[in-house]
Amino acid sequence: MPDEIIKSIAGGGLIRATAMMSTAIVDEAARRHQTTPVATVALGRALTGALLLAATQQKSGRLTMRVLGDGPLGAIVIDAGTDGDVRGYVQFPDTEVPVNEHGTFDVGTSVGRGMLHVTYAFDYGTSYTSTVELASGEIGGDLTRFLAVSEQVPSAVMLGVYIEPDGSVGVAGGLIVSLMPGAGDEIAERLENSIASVATFTEMWRGGMNLEAILNEVLGGFAVEILERSADIAFRCRCSRERILGAMQTLPQEELQTMIREDHGAEVTCHFCADKYKFSEPDLEELLTISA
Ligand SMILES: [Zn+2]
Repeated sequence: MPDEIIKSIAGGGLIRATAMMSTAIVDEAARRHQTTPVATVALGRALTGALLLAATQQKSGRLTMRVLGDGPLGAIVIDAGTDGDVRGYVQFPDTEVPVNEHGTFDVGTSVGRGMLHVTYAFDYGTSYTSTVELASGEIGGDLTRFLAVSEQVPSAVMLGVYIEPDGSVGVAGGLIVSLMPGAGDEIAERLENSIASVATFTEMWRGGMNLEAILNEVLGGFAVEILERSADIAFRCRCSRERILGAMQTLPQEELQTMIREDHGAEVTCHFCADKYKFSEPDLEELLTISA
């Protein structure tokens, strides 16, 4: 099933729900960063959560989500756009941790304790950052807490990444359900009960449900109205040789000279997508004359 995003309302507009399949996005991230299974699950949840969060914004722009825990995975950094582009990395992609007592990957321990920062940068506007303490390090619960505490929107975030026995990404996806102002206690309670009673996102999908069926299942008896669906979401990086050259132009002259003299060139790896850019001695000499 191709990646897609569905935006919907339910309960006469008092509930907003955004659901996403992100299997190809997470698979691409795992391939690029050569992640271990637990790193794939953590990075996959973060990529999915950040892109969902971007999709729920009213204005166009980008957001950067930083999960800064003290666990062995280190930092997880995601850059997601309202245009459907997402990219991201985990600091230590080769992290291995034993599975927990439920036989699942222990993302919470791998991420650890720490903070979740989200920086919004909207087009034609200023940027701002909101921060909360990580609730569990499982990413989904952390985003739920973030939305409740920082954005004052009662929400539920479900994120799932299923790894096949051979290590490949079987399925990835998630959803954000939020209560709009005016939704009373009765709707909140019905929704809460419904969310508490459903299986996990990946269990529902593996049980044969498509994205729309999962959305209906989570929203229980509420009538769901689909507002928009789009398949234009992907792992896409914004780096280019020109951008990297631009950044290298700001390096001190001595540093460029050292690269020429000792390394006879330079190789720069993009954090976000792991693409490598090679620069020859003549390339660097040209940079020296530009920056001189
Ligand atoms: Zn890149």
